[in-house]
Amino acid sequence: MLTVKEMTGLEGKRVIVRVDFNVPQKNGVISDDNRIVAALPTIKELIAKGARVVLMSHLGKIKHKEAPEVVEEQKQKNNMAPVAKRLGELLNKEVVFVDTTRGDKLSNAVNALKAGEVLLMQNTRYEKGEEKNDPELAAEWAKLGDAFVMDAFGSAHRAHASTYGIPEILKGEGKQVAMGYLVEKEVSSLTRVVDVKKENHPYIAILGGFKVSDKIKVIESLLKKCDKVIIGGAMAYTFAVALGKKVGSSPYEPDFVDYAKRMYESGKILLPIDAVVANDFENPTDIKTIEGDIPEGYQGMDIGPKTAKLYAEEIASAKTVFWNGPMGVFERDEFTAGTVAVCKACAELKDAFTVIGGGDSASAAKKLGFKEKFSHVSTGGGASLEMIENDGHLPGIDVLG
Ligand code: ADP
Ligand code: MG
Repeated sequence: MLTVKEMTGLEGKRVIVRVDFNVPQKNGVISDDNRIVAALPTIKELIAKGARVVLMSHLGKIKHKEAPEVVEEQKQKNNMAPVAKRLGELLNKEVVFVDTTRGDKLSNAVNALKAGEVLLMQNTRYEKGEEKNDPELAAEWAKLGDAFVMDAFGSAHRAHASTYGIPEILKGEGKQVAMGYLVEKEVSSLTRVVDVKKENHPYIAILGGFKVSDKIKVIESLLKKCDKVIIGGAMAYTFAVALGKKVGSSPYEPDFVDYAKRMYESGKILLPIDAVVANDFENPTDIKTIEGDIPEGYQGMDIGPKTAKLYAEEIASAKTVFWNGPMGVFERDEFTAGTVAVCKACAELKDAFTVIGGGDSASAAKKLGFKEKFSHVSTGGGASLEMIENDGHLPGIDVLG
């Protein structure tokens, strides 16, 4: 698969780059510009190659089935203009912003670009055909480019017009389609937890978070690849019920108890042996550590200290680790210890390859100060999980090959 670094002959050529500029913003103020910063290496490479850079991204959600005035409101809320301004500041260069997603205004602005200049189109989701990969829309957008670069890893699991339709058309026309730097790094890192060579075992997965039902495919896939799957978070209570234990008022999913039982029969799953429980989720007045059954009136909020020790010992033997899902309600200080323990165990590994996939797990590692200790922290929550589930395949990546 071609990379942006390897692309040639781009001088004066229009290159469409699908970036992930889906940044949090309120009233036009961007609260975290990480995603814009992450795309800079690819954009700078293309500027250096003399390309005319045409950037496209989605921003937020626009529900086209709502009433017209609601759609209009959502468009206002998810206007790309502040992103163009911030990108201009980061590049220290003018960024042409086009506040529309098709028509003469857009094509004229694209065609007026000179070598090394940068343009950002309005939010791709202003078009209702974007998420349906509407062929007519993809064809209109593809006309704006002589080449295509995919650098939106967080959207690579979606076959939309901007992530799939455009590269499919351009590739068919014999034009260069390539991975950007960010996508290249994601793919090479995640491939190492999808296809794990013998010498890189033991391979241990750490799974937590809220629901078993959200993670069914990834659990199954990891059970095939891993030597051990460590379970924490609220997900553990569905497994506990499957083993005939009592979980008090902990959240668990009755419809997935049988499934959990079957998964447990793999013999690879490790479950908590104690829990930090609380008498109320929002305003607990009684927090304690419990071994065995969780009594009525209490719910599990984190793995307990014995479990944390057991898990840390298990992790210590790993050569490869994939972590998805916090061990407890890490957002609150009383319930971070379990997540800290697994982070620490991963951080202490020498010569191991450690990967975090999943949005909340990545923010937990950042918040708790362990982000830099991991070999790779994926920028795409859903995409990283789907890449594992689908044995390394994602539509927005496969289309480039
Ligand atoms: P990721 O985004 O990394 O895939 P999830 O979205 O599956 O992770 O889960 C993260 C959420 O799970 C966090 O908000 C955390 O508070 C919650 N969580 C973890 N353990 C528990 C628990 N015991 N009870 C309730 N919520 C929990
Ligand atoms: Mg999440």
